[in-house]
Amino acid sequence: MPSSERGDRARIERLVLDHLRTIPDFPEPGIAFRDITPLLADGTAFRAVSEYWAQAVRDSGADFVVGIEARGFIVAAPAAALAGVGFVPLRKPGKLPGVTISESYALEYGQATLEMHEDAIKPGSRVVIMDDVLATGGTAHAAAALMERAGGEVVNLMFLMELDGLDGRAMIGPRPIDVLARV
Ligand code: AMP
Repeated sequence: MPSSERGDRARIERLVLDHLRTIPDFPEPGIAFRDITPLLADGTAFRAVSEYWAQAVRDSGADFVVGIEARGFIVAAPAAALAGVGFVPLRKPGKLPGVTISESYALEYGQATLEMHEDAIKPGSRVVIMDDVLATGGTAHAAAALMERAGGEVVNLMFLMELDGLDGRAMIGPRPIDVLARV
């Protein structure tokens, strides 16, 4: 990677960390919630982060960017639109109007299911999966499994942050992963 790109990456990582707010004991005691709303509220910072991810999406050669409800939508949709690549939402159960396929998984707090339209991607499509936080990796693994069941190739999983000490990467296995900041 050229040093100019490394420098840009360090600047974007700093932007994310400088605009991060940690709320203790939310939504349950013992969880340190990593809140990205200060980043979203700063238009210059949000644009810089979105443009950074858009370039990463272009470089990956993806056909689709997949966002995980709900905060994943906020990071994935601008990156997809700026890169000129389609956006696919993975939603909570019962929200999508068409025929869906689904995957259930365990969360850092609780249990959840992700759904997508069964015809959302064509078999053989290259997909990037995006979310705000990689915690235990259960959500990202379910998203990747869903895309692969639909015939997609997961070319990268991109996150603003990875939580230290949870080893979410282990769940994702050998699939490529790109994380801006470790917290
Ligand atoms: P996991 O499946 O454990 O990797 O959890 C990832 C999902 O839960 C992501 O969609 C995150 O938005 C959310 N999440 C998990 N832990 C946190 C946390 N400590 N702060 C903010 N979001 C979190």
